Amino acid sequence: MDMPVNPVWQQHLFLGGWQTGEGEPLAVTEPATGERLSQVKAATPADVDRAATIARDAQQRWAAVPFDQKAEILRTAAALLKERAGEINGWNTRECGSIGPKAEWELQATYEQAQMAAALPMQPSGQIFPSNLPGKRNYWQRIPLGTVGVIAPWNFPILLSMRSVLPALALGNCVILKPDPKSSVCGGALMAQVLQDAGLPEGVFHVLPGGPEVGQALVEHPLVKMISFTGSTAVGRKIGETCGRMLKKAALELGGNNAQVVLDDADLDAASSCGAWGSFLHQGQICMQTGRHLVHRSVADAYIERLAARAGNLACGDPWRQQVHLGPLINEAQARRVEDILQRSVAMGARIVVGGRRRGNFVDATVIADVTPDMPVFSEEIFGPVAPVMAFDSDDQATDLVNESPYGLAAAIHSGSTERARRIAERIRVGMVHINDQTVNNEFQVPFGGLGSSGNSGRFGGPANLDEFTTSQWVSVLDEGIQYPF
Ligand code: NAD
Repeated sequence: MDMPVNPVWQQHLFLGGWQTGEGEPLAVTEPATGERLSQVKAATPADVDRAATIARDAQQRWAAVPFDQKAEILRTAAALLKERAGEINGWNTRECGSIGPKAEWELQATYEQAQMAAALPMQPSGQIFPSNLPGKRNYWQRIPLGTVGVIAPWNFPILLSMRSVLPALALGNCVILKPDPKSSVCGGALMAQVLQDAGLPEGVFHVLPGGPEVGQALVEHPLVKMISFTGSTAVGRKIGETCGRMLKKAALELGGNNAQVVLDDADLDAASSCGAWGSFLHQGQICMQTGRHLVHRSVADAYIERLAARAGNLACGDPWRQQVHLGPLINEAQARRVEDILQRSVAMGARIVVGGRRRGNFVDATVIADVTPDMPVFSEEIFGPVAPVMAFDSDDQATDLVNESPYGLAAAIHSGSTERARRIAERIRVGMVHINDQTVNNEFQVPFGGLGSSGNSGRFGGPANLDEFTTSQWVSVLDEGIQYPF
């Protein structure tokens, strides 16, 4: 079945409304087949300037829209996401290689983000503080930042863009979204349509598909007051440097190399199920992917046997035409990179227990054992369907191994004693830790984010959104003028 293609987004850019763009067509390709599915209009750095100027002019009008009208637009957007599930999930499957349940989960999570954003405009927006001057009143209030730039990756292109776009809009900002060029339809054009049809006023939201040069122009534009970036640590660092120089707010959600620790008293059936889910979901292309399985030596063989049995049962293929557990990696470069990490680690003594095979963009679910910290499969973010297993001998050693990584996004700890697991949790440097669960955990109402090379401590979700997407102003009022000593 062909996907519905809209000539509007094939030919136009969304600059607060559909407009002619000067850029080249950007091909939309299906990673499972290499087939060209469609095209979008690519943005240029000049379009960033157009969008930023339109957004600057629209922002104060948008901020002044009464809170209940903003909430209604966001609730309508939530309803449209559900109404268009067939179209959005279809594009997520074909454009991004997502299996059906992953696409459905992503859309449901985005729906929840939209509902939560709809509740933001009615939150209290300030506080009153006392003054030591009689008759003086101190108001402290949240105010919008102005225009927020959102730069998103391709792996969960709808959720990871909308988790910033929707709360930023709800709090009175205009937003310019730059989706990844590999997910410009589902993570860009379809979202523009949803928000336009939900009644968002002209000029408030913009979508600029394109690569690094468009992203860089967005980061460097003086009218863009904040960058919310989700992507690799290398690019996040560069963006952070630019924002630091420009004194611009930056929320950076970056890579991970997340550990699942399995203690000797763990339920191995549950732990291996969590391990398989954490390593293989969406072909491992998740920042919270379980990239390291640290297992107590006394149970390591039993754990590997269970994990390998689960991996061996996973079908890998075209998620649009077949019923599979794993789809393709996003492109051949990524698949080759995973293969290379495996080959280099095997050359250093690691042992592939199951999987290890690449066919074009497809990599089978792989369990690799006898891993040591100096191997690339341990130290690098893999972003592919690979579960590296390393044995440890004590809780202290497990703690040190978790902390050995410069990343600090998520971790999981499995133990029959939650007290023992909590003692380890308190000593590991990660932003999110899950006891007797897996690392790929995301609940929209709980602040989400990492430490170390995984980010600059920005947080998404729940109460954190109010702080992330606003700044504040102190207004003091005296009813009459006051005289100072000179
Ligand atoms: P990437 O950093 O290459 O690209 C992410 C986005 O940045 C894309 O839109 C890209 O076009 C843009 N970009 C690239 N260079 C840029 C530049 N110089 N200036 C401005 N924008 C630029 O990341 P990727 O490889 O597409 O995504 C995978 C990475 O993202 C992994 O490291 C993964 O862990 C991370 N990630 C993190 C989270 C999180 O919440 N922490 C979530 C998903 C993915």
